[in-house]
Amino acid sequence: MPHDHSHPQTELPADPVLRVKALETLLVNKGLVDPAALDEIIETYAHKVGPQNGAKVVAKMWSDPGFRDAMLTDPMPVLRDMDLYGRQGEHMVFVENTDTVHNIVVCTLCSCYPWPLLGIPPGWYKSDAYRARVVREPRAVLQEFGVSLPEDTVVRVWDSTAETRYLVVPQRPAHTEGLSEEDLAARVTRDSMIGTGFAAETV
Ligand code: FE
Repeated sequence: MPHDHSHPQTELPADPVLRVKALETLLVNKGLVDPAALDEIIETYAHKVGPQNGAKVVAKMWSDPGFRDAMLTDPMPVLRDMDLYGRQGEHMVFVENTDTVHNIVVCTLCSCYPWPLLGIPPGWYKSDAYRARVVREPRAVLQEFGVSLPEDTVVRVWDSTAETRYLVVPQRPAHTEGLSEEDLAARVTRDSMIGTGFAAETV
């Protein structure tokens, strides 16, 4: 049987790390990219920007009803004020979990994700399996993440795009009355803001 030499573009290259390195070298050699700027971007999103940003916003939404309303209706001016505005997060939409609705976020096309609020997406978020299955069978996917929902809970799947990125506002855990925003933020996990987890009952 002849070997098939056609490789659909959706397949990952044999060695993505090598490919990225080759692309970076090419861009730098052609003067299209400043290597220092590239390092700065990677450093920023790998170490300085992470889910702690989103957690801070969620904790404030739990604590301050006026702030919550603003985030659910027109979040961008607030995020700008909080210095949480940036690339891959220019148009954010906050979707709130309730007793009857559970939200979950995916990018079916690629891996769009709210960088300024959550940092760099986890590997599974970018996987073909997650992207395809979360639309078809969200409850089965949620089960695999350990999230069991009552039968009558409505599951809403939000498909991120280059223009619009979503952040799930998890439900505030019970017995957290009186906690400071900082302590509340510690309960807000990354997965709870993607919708594949709950906020932590304990720290
Ligand atoms: Fe995408």
